[in-house]
Amino acid sequence: DNELLKVKGLKKYFPISNGWFSSKEYVKAVDEVSFSVKKGETLSLVGESGCGKSTLGRLINGLIKADAGDIVFKGDNLAEASETKWRSYRKPMQMIFQDPYASLSPRMKIKEIIAEPLKIHDPSLSREEREAKVKSILEICGIDYYHSDKYPHEFSGGQRQRIGIARALILQPELIIADEPVSALDVSIQAQILNLLKKLQKDYQLTYLFISHDLSVVEHISDHVAVMYLGNIVEIAPREAIFEDPKHPYTKALLSSVPIPDPKLKRESIILKGEIPNAANPPKGCKFHTRCPLAMSICSKEIPIMKTVGDKQQMVACHLYQ
Ligand code: SF4
Ligand code: MG
Repeated sequence: DNELLKVKGLKKYFPISNGWFSSKEYVKAVDEVSFSVKKGETLSLVGESGCGKSTLGRLINGLIKADAGDIVFKGDNLAEASETKWRSYRKPMQMIFQDPYASLSPRMKIKEIIAEPLKIHDPSLSREEREAKVKSILEICGIDYYHSDKYPHEFSGGQRQRIGIARALILQPELIIADEPVSALDVSIQAQILNLLKKLQKDYQLTYLFISHDLSVVEHISDHVAVMYLGNIVEIAPREAIFEDPKHPYTKALLSSVPIPDPKLKRESIILKGEIPNAANPPKGCKFHTRCPLAMSICSKEIPIMKTVGDKQQMVACHLYQ
């Protein structure tokens, strides 16, 4: 099959440190997470802040090391790979961040910022070849080369995200991990950046892991959506199933705050009670039971397991469906 990335049983626990010493307690940031992404598709990871979605992105990218589980990229298990092997995947796997300003060096001209990864990974290129590549990628991303002698602060937020995308693309990656790439932007600019990402995906067969707290942002870019809560995926399904027929009460709650253009259609409105619990001491059984409007007595005792529900490759971990 054409799976580009497959993650299985991935775990990352962070010890809780209390100033001087670390206790024996852990934040289970990512707890037995499994999914796969096909080449050329987009999987969105959605959940509230603290659900582990950014940690998951950083594990896959190798910025942090997993405690257990497999990260199979193009057939190689990176979780068991050497430093050298990881380094060889620096090129085909790139990241885009929420705040391009923070990730762009303020003292470098943007043409230097974009040329830098090429200098590292393609040192045999001549100066002219490098400049030609930088020019072409900037223009593909909607920045006129005329502006390439400027510094990041001279650009707007949306333009800076275009520069961040150009820098990620210059090495012709296959997988892009985009962590909240439009959350810092105005809604009208968000749409422009999402359209650019979609066009780039089509033109270059890119695969996206798209991390967001906002289901309305991922609605038009996703092929599949995984909903995370306190370190677990609670529902994973094709986009249409998530938006038209969500199963997990948490997915339904996230969706009920997404506006629908057609006022005749109505989504079940679910208001969540309370805050997301402390990840160091999550509720027993279903971690969502303290906020779930449909919780039953079994929910605080037994952990629901992932099950396929219906005929749309929809998987959900909830006692309502077992
Ligand atoms: Fe709600 Fe129970 Fe389902 Fe958890 S398992 S989401 S508490 S109904
Ligand atoms: Mg985050």
